[in-house]
Amino acid sequence: MAMQYYSTNRRAPEVSFREALLGGQAPDRGLYLPVSIPKISADELMALKGLAYHQRAFEVLRRWLAEDDVPADVLADLTEDAYNFPVPLEQIYGRTYVMRLDQGPTASFKDFAARMMARLMNYYLSQEHRKLVVLTATSGDTGGAIANAFHGLENIEVVILFPRQEVTDIQRRQMTTLGGNVRSISLEGKFDDCQALVKQAFWDEELSSFGLTSANSINIGRLLPQSVYYFHAWAELASSPEDKAVFSVPSGNFGNMMGAVLAKRMGLPVSRVVAATNENDEFPVFYRTGGYEKIVPSINCISSAMNVGHPSNLARLVDLYGGSMDEQGRLHIQPDLYALQRDIYAVEVSDPQTRETMRTVWREHQLLLEPHGAVGWLGLQRFAEEFPAEGRLQTVLETAHPAKFPEHIREVLGIEAEVPESMQGLEHTEETYESMEPDYPALKAYLKRNA
Ligand SMILES: *Cc1c(COP(=O)(O)O)cnc(C)c1O
Repeated sequence: MAMQYYSTNRRAPEVSFREALLGGQAPDRGLYLPVSIPKISADELMALKGLAYHQRAFEVLRRWLAEDDVPADVLADLTEDAYNFPVPLEQIYGRTYVMRLDQGPTASFKDFAARMMARLMNYYLSQEHRKLVVLTATSGDTGGAIANAFHGLENIEVVILFPRQEVTDIQRRQMTTLGGNVRSISLEGKFDDCQALVKQAFWDEELSSFGLTSANSINIGRLLPQSVYYFHAWAELASSPEDKAVFSVPSGNFGNMMGAVLAKRMGLPVSRVVAATNENDEFPVFYRTGGYEKIVPSINCISSAMNVGHPSNLARLVDLYGGSMDEQGRLHIQPDLYALQRDIYAVEVSDPQTRETMRTVWREHQLLLEPHGAVGWLGLQRFAEEFPAEGRLQTVLETAHPAKFPEHIREVLGIEAEVPESMQGLEHTEETYESMEPDYPALKAYLKRNA
């Protein structure tokens, strides 16, 4: 039986995975969540041990996607095609590991979801002879991952909005040098402005015939592939089904962390998920006090992909814990804070602490972390101080390659990060993009002209 998805605002009909993926956000402006969460047994978990990453992805995703959603043989091909790069787990000390999610074509963890979404969307659209416009806001890494994953697909046009001053040269080049069906817009504003414009376009009746959809983490299609690498880490490292893991996730819009929460609900032995934010600490404050206030405008930290003053996935997290939050960030029903505190550990890390952590891990462990990974590292250390446990399996996610943030690596550590092969030569490729003020009529006119 195919799984149905409901909207967190509860004023839209339930839909299939296909509709949730192609639609992005629910018509009542809520976010889609599965009506029930599939389970994986201890035996099935142990059986993941002998498999390659793409086979683990297949095993996890086929529990979500029934034969009517995607036939098993198609899903097996798509996962094998999408996951053709390594996902290393580096032992740092004892049972503490770093999972490197930075080996994909654009060197951030966004590749994991972007590559699967592109393949699934393309599969559905080519069956239906339909076209879509994927309109996406980026704080830096989503844009490159989406551009790379969707480039050259016949049924999909891509438009990416990025905040001019908040993305690095390399991040911009990953979006602006492909051409073809990928267009990008440099916005004189912040990531929050990009996200707000994208939402306005989705809710604009006049554009409804355009087939706009989102590849941001409001799309449920992002979250399912982002649960897979937690299974991968566990399968690589755990000794028995009783061996519970802690994962520390550097968090902005909480799409990555929601992957961990879904994995835990499926039955993955996870004792805690550490949600580590930068100075945009609206969630850690909420977690401690139950009071929620967005941060407007968001604070500019060096872990720039996490400069989010209101995480779009918070509505999903609140919903999974029995509460209700609308798209503006207003709490209508308080979630079970006690249960949330038992499963999650929320912690904020300042910029000075981020820099200090980059220096400490480099000095003590010869571990090169870029700012986002350093936030995750310190988050885990904080958790371990408060809840010490001998021999616990604990993994920090490194969400991007240090070479994506050469300025910070140079400034903090005084070294040059080695550039992975996939990123070499980008500086010599010609860039094409439009510049725009954060002004909705300008975006609308652009979409009408180009899409
Ligand atoms: C997007 C991003 C994050 C934040 O992930 P969310 O799913 O938005 O919480 C963290 N680190 C890097 C490098 C990113 O690109």
